[in-house]
Amino acid sequence: MEKFAQDVQNLLGIKLTPRQIAAFATYERELLAWNARFNLTAIRDPEGIRTKHFLDSLTCILAWRNSPPPQTLIDIGTGAGFPGLPLKILFPHLEVTLVDSVGKKLAFCRHIVETLKLEKVTLIQGRAEELGQNSAHRERYDWAVARAVANMPVLVEYLLPLVRVGGAMLAQKGASGPAETQSAERAIRILGGQLHQVLPVYLPGVAEERYLIVIRKQSATPPGYPRRVGLPAKKPIQ
Ligand code: SAM
Repeated sequence: MEKFAQDVQNLLGIKLTPRQIAAFATYERELLAWNARFNLTAIRDPEGIRTKHFLDSLTCILAWRNSPPPQTLIDIGTGAGFPGLPLKILFPHLEVTLVDSVGKKLAFCRHIVETLKLEKVTLIQGRAEELGQNSAHRERYDWAVARAVANMPVLVEYLLPLVRVGGAMLAQKGASGPAETQSAERAIRILGGQLHQVLPVYLPGVAEERYLIVIRKQSATPPGYPRRVGLPAKKPIQ
C-alpha cells in the first residue's frame, strides 16, 4: 500500500491518511476474496487493483480541479464500486449513489460500505434509463460518473438526465475516448450538455491511454430522454 499512497500523492497531490490507507487495504482484501467466488472484475492481482481500479478511480478528481467539488455524485454501472467507492473513501463528506443493474455487484458494494462503515452512500439496483425518468433522481446530482459502461453516444443518454443544470458528467475512457466523444456531439447537444474537457491521464506503469471526458449540463434535458430501457444502446442518438 505504500507505493499506492505515494502514487496518489504524486499524481493527485493528496496525502492519504492512515485510516484511508487501511480502508483501501480492506477493500482490496475483500475484492480478492469475493472475486474468488463471483466474477466481479477481470483484474485479480493486488498491484492491478491498486493502480487500475483504485488509482484510476481517484483520477476523477483531476476533472473537478477548476470547479467547486461535488457534494452529490452518482456512479452509473459501478460494478465492484468503481469509481464511486474510492472517491467516497477519499472524500468522506461526498454523498454517493452507486447504481448497477446486477444484484451481486451491488451486494459486494453493500458489503464494502458496511465493512468500512461509510455513511451517506445509497445503493440502487436498477437501470440508468429508469433512474433518469424518476423525479427523485432526475437532474438531482452535481456529477454523474461512469467507467467502462457504454460508448459515449449511449453514455450521455444514461448520465446527462441525472445531472442538475450547472453540474457535469464525467466519463472515464480509454484510447477511443476522443473519437467516441466526437461521435456523441449531437447527442450531447440534444440532451442539454456542452463538451468542457478531454483530459489525458497517465497512470504509473500503464501504457494504455486514459481520458477523462467532462461534459457540462447547460440546459434541462428534454422530457423524452432517457428513452425506455435498452433503447439508448440499441439505437444511440445519431
Ligand atoms: N464501472 C465499473 C468499473 O469500471 O470497474 C464496472 C464496469 S462493468 C464493465 C459495466 C457495468 O455497468 C456492469 O456491472 C453492468 O451491470 C452495468 N451497466 C451496464 N448498463 C447499465 C445500465 N443501463 N444501468 C445500470 N447499470 C448498467
